[in-house]
Amino acid sequence: MQRTIGRKAQVSGIGIHSGKPVTTNLLPADINNGIAFKAADGSIIKANFDNVYTTNMSTKIANNNCSIDVVEHLMAALWCTGIDNLIVEVDNVELPIGDGSSTDWVREIKSAGILDQSEKRKILRVEKTLEIREEDKYIIISPNDNPGIIIDVSIDFAHPTIGQQSIIFDSNKDCFEDEFAPARTFGFVQDLEYLHSQGLGLGASSDNCVGVDHEDGIINPEGLRFKDEFVRHKVLDCIGDLFLSGYYLNCRVKGYKTGHKMNNMIITKLFQDTSNYCLS
Ligand SMILES: [Zn+2]
Repeated sequence: MQRTIGRKAQVSGIGIHSGKPVTTNLLPADINNGIAFKAADGSIIKANFDNVYTTNMSTKIANNNCSIDVVEHLMAALWCTGIDNLIVEVDNVELPIGDGSSTDWVREIKSAGILDQSEKRKILRVEKTLEIREEDKYIIISPNDNPGIIIDVSIDFAHPTIGQQSIIFDSNKDCFEDEFAPARTFGFVQDLEYLHSQGLGLGASSDNCVGVDHEDGIINPEGLRFKDEFVRHKVLDCIGDLFLSGYYLNCRVKGYKTGHKMNNMIITKLFQDTSNYCLS
């Protein structure tokens, strides 16, 4: 069945890029509404891959007048808690970053209660193998003989603290809430100055991301939550970005150095031909 939340939930904080304070209200929504954002000017932006405006360092959605940045961690939390219908009121240009993971969102959604609705959820089953490649990076989606989604992601950073990391998430076996939702976003300390000059990362701190220094390694005093937290966060981002398809997907995903841009490109490709998928 489709699901929404039982009552309003509020999450406040700062945007990791803008550095500005933001308050979001999560509101229950009717069947077949889907996930939709209500921007500061009152206009509605559907949480849909078609509305993705930029994928530079985060996934930003936009309509003609407004944009809302860093939607992917909330989208992952909504996927994790099985929400189909929701209105997200946002009073600024970016969602609150919380601790850089999906944990705050998951906790607030669960505490608002999850409500079963009177309409069946449609699942999108991927029927063909599709891929996007750029240099050595790729993302491939393909049919999955079992229910659910399997995400097999690898990363390779020329930094000893990260290096090569691979992980496979199988929604039939692994607990996303415990093993992936707490994985935080990360960035290199040496990139901060450039990011600031681009108006990005202005709110970044060791409270809301894992900071990696070229010489000193992890700058966060508490260290990592998982020894492979970096690749786990890539799975989180991938789940959030793919949920912008508007559906719970039944497929396999294999990604190498994939990110927001390629995640969006593969969903766009999926919907270019109706024979690529079936809805049931
Ligand atoms: Zn992320």
